[in-house]
Amino acid sequence: MIADGKVVTLHYTLKNDGGEVLDESTKEHPFAYIHGSGQIVPGLESALSGAKTGDKKDVTVTAEEGYGEINPELEFKVERSNFPADKELEEGMQFTAEMKDGRQHPFTIVKLEGDDVHINGNHPLAGETLHFAVEVGPIRDATDEEKSHGHVHGEGGVQH
Ligand code: ZN
Repeated sequence: MIADGKVVTLHYTLKNDGGEVLDESTKEHPFAYIHGSGQIVPGLESALSGAKTGDKKDVTVTAEEGYGEINPELEFKVERSNFPADKELEEGMQFTAEMKDGRQHPFTIVKLEGDDVHINGNHPLAGETLHFAVEVGPIRDATDEEKSHGHVHGEGGVQH
C-alpha cells in the first residue's frame, strides 16, 4: 500500500482542462518517486496515499494543490546588463536566480526587447487544473541510500 517512505512506480497521463496531453509516462519509462517527500504535486500525492499496485485512478488537482497559482510578481523585466555580456540570450532560455530569501529559483526568458529581458519565474503549469489518469505499478520500501539522497535509484529514477 502506498505510504510515506515507499518507492512508488506510476504510469500516468496528465491533461489540462482542454484535454491536451501535457505529460505522460511510457511503458519503457515509468515514473518512480518516494511517497511523502514532495516529489509530486501535493494534490496527487494525497490522492495516492493508501492506493495499491494495479489501482487506476483519475485525479483532478486544482492549481493551488498543483503547481500553484500564477504569481504576477514572478513576471517582470530586467536589464540586459544583469546577464554576462558574453552570454547569448534567447527566448525560452532557462536560468536560476537568487531570491530575497536566498533560495535559487528557476526563471525562463519569455521575450527580448532591446535592452529589456522579460522573465517569468512561474512554473509552466502554474494556474492550470491538472487531470491525472494514473495506474499504480510496483510499490517497495525505499533503501537507506535512497532516503539519504532523497530520490529513487534504478528504474524510473536516477541512474548513478
Ligand atoms: Zn542518488
